[in-house]
Amino acid sequence: MSADQPVVLVVEDEAAQREVLSYNLEAEGFRVARAENGEEALILVAEEQPDIIVLDWMLPNVSGIEVCRQLKTRPETRSVPVIMLSARSEEVDKVRGLETGADDYVVKPYSVVELMARVRAQLRRTRPAAAGLRLQYDDIMLDAETHRVTRLGEPLKLGPTEFRLLSTFMEKPGRVWSREQLLDRVWGRDIYVDTRTVDVHIGRLRKALCQYGGGDPLRTVRGAGYALG
Ligand code: CA
Repeated sequence: MSADQPVVLVVEDEAAQREVLSYNLEAEGFRVARAENGEEALILVAEEQPDIIVLDWMLPNVSGIEVCRQLKTRPETRSVPVIMLSARSEEVDKVRGLETGADDYVVKPYSVVELMARVRAQLRRTRPAAAGLRLQYDDIMLDAETHRVTRLGEPLKLGPTEFRLLSTFMEKPGRVWSREQLLDRVWGRDIYVDTRTVDVHIGRLRKALCQYGGGDPLRTVRGAGYALG
């Protein structure tokens, strides 16, 4: 499995439901982080930086609604999509009325197929490359499904690491990524790699992107890292 597989945080206090959900998400290619309650969820969000959060409404102590409200008020987590699970449709109406900022709602008992479709829909919005879509930046095209990259219509030869680096950049043009963030995303967080390795692969990516001409689209941000554009 690739290191840049999308991460879903599952917040559910009932163990059986948590495991079924996690099992299905892992089968879909996600890495799953699990939280049993709201407090744990808020800690894991900072540690795991999930791409999507599936959040149960009924949790002990801190409710799902409160967790959602906190996530949506913090600048660093505001843009992470939250899919709220609730036991009754009246609760969903209430969630909407409360304006917790949840991005989607699913009523329990839900069909796994439906929930997976909702998760994928959120992923297409926030992690288009991970969802297998085509991305474009200027004259560079990246097809996440076929792993083909072209520039000015010419196919480019990229190694697997350079491909993952480029898809990370193309998902969020303009965003400055630190070397540590790139290591986590592209190499995986459980692997020890020297941050200078990032510079080596950025060098290779630049060379590959400019092999048929065109300017260098990657920007080195002094003291901060790298950005596309
Ligand atoms: Ca529950």
